[in-house]
Amino acid sequence: MSTHLYQYKPYHYSYEYDYVFAGAGAATMSLLIRMILSGRFKDSTFLVVDKDRKEKNDRTWCFWENEDGLFEKLVHKSWNQLWFHGPGFSKKYRIKPYRYKMIRGIDFYTFCLDFLKKQPNVQLLFEPVEKIESLKNGARLVIENQETYYAKKYLFNSIPFDKPAPAPGKHMLLQHFKGWLIETEQDFFDPAACTLMDFRISQQHGASFVYTMPLTNRTALVEYTLFNESLLKEEEYEEGLKAYIRDYLKLEQYSIKEQEYGVIPMTNQVFSRGDGAIVNIGTTGGQTKPSSGYTFQFIQKNSDAILYSMLNHGHPRPIDLSHEGRFMFYDSVLLDVLVHKELGGAEIFTKLFKRNSAKRIFRFLDNNSFLLEELLLISSLPVGPFWRAARRQLFPSPAGSHRSGATRPVRPGG
Ligand SMILES: Cc1cc2nc3c(=O)[nH]c(=O)nc-3n(C[C@H](O)[C@H](O)[C@H](O)COP(=O)(O)OP(=O)(O)OC[C@H]3O[C@@H](n4cnc5c(N)ncnc54)[C@H](O)[C@@H]3O)c2cc1C
Repeated sequence: MSTHLYQYKPYHYSYEYDYVFAGAGAATMSLLIRMILSGRFKDSTFLVVDKDRKEKNDRTWCFWENEDGLFEKLVHKSWNQLWFHGPGFSKKYRIKPYRYKMIRGIDFYTFCLDFLKKQPNVQLLFEPVEKIESLKNGARLVIENQETYYAKKYLFNSIPFDKPAPAPGKHMLLQHFKGWLIETEQDFFDPAACTLMDFRISQQHGASFVYTMPLTNRTALVEYTLFNESLLKEEEYEEGLKAYIRDYLKLEQYSIKEQEYGVIPMTNQVFSRGDGAIVNIGTTGGQTKPSSGYTFQFIQKNSDAILYSMLNHGHPRPIDLSHEGRFMFYDSVLLDVLVHKELGGAEIFTKLFKRNSAKRIFRFLDNNSFLLEELLLISSLPVGPFWRAARRQLFPSPAGSHRSGATRPVRPGG
């Protein structure tokens, strides 16, 4: 199979497909593999286009789940105990029936690409996409050298071409992080429990925490994470990581085996779901949880919902969207509190973990809690700042007068 435009193209090479996927990351793979496994698209043709060959371990997905997921066999490590640390508070939680799981990007990409390469009706193309356009019938995708590919049915897009439009009461924070996979010469880590969040570190740059995922007695992924409006200089992330490893892990000797860096939007701005035959998916389709940045599991749920809608209603636009309704309101209020700096992230998350079980917090962050639980969670937080934020969200001041806005654009792909 030809995977590169400038390679020899077989005579049956086509510029027209039933479904075109722009981007070959988590969202495309999660949806396309579900479509193929359903067995209902055997007569359809698919094109997947990405600028990147997906040969690097560019990210690690961590998420909680209380059953086996579609990509279970790719889970690199999972934990059923986790630590939360905040100023003056530390607790280890048993999270059964949940498990906190880790999937490495490279394992995911390799598995998915190998699977797709075996499908006779799937064409992969590794080229940069310049634009996508909705047409009267279908949609088209233009790559940088102006070659054009047509989607007769739908074009699923996970490339961040447009940023969501700012509006009154809407905020745009960034979640940015740098992680090191470190190794020690002697046994040091306890691989039975991970640290979900450690907020004891300096909060000078905004809401900041570190998470530590021990893989073995001698290796762990340690990631320095911030929620705020602007990115740091590279050395500032590294200083944060070094200080944490020295002061909190109390580790002096280690080597860095791998690194990762990422930026994810944390926003209550409304993402376009696409128009006509274009359907936005993944982060571009608004699947990132505004208040936490968790995305992987929302992509899985959304992929299930899109497939269900295609099979049962004949279109890929499910009625239940991930971050809508009262959960979007809660997310908006939390973002508003952070943007107005009425309370810091360390204080908010420490209060939540002090007074609630991790399982209740997980259900809430999954948008799966029921109202009584939400009232219990809300009552564990200080009333004043949240009440004022709720008022600002319900009655936003005119455009331009609210405090918000990322000072730098969100980078494509993260
Ligand atoms: C380093 C990192 C760690 C993360 N960790 C977690 C986590 O632990 N848990 C969690 O829930 N979420 C996490 N996320 C957030 C989210 O799950 C991921 O960003 C996820 O990959 C989003 O899937 P996606 O398909 O929307 O985007 P992506 O997976 O980024 O896929 C988009 C694809 O589009 C391609 N592309 C971009 N521009 C072009 C172009 N012009 N032409 C062609 N191709 C293009 C990119 O190469 C990429 O393959 C993390 C994100 C990052 C960046």
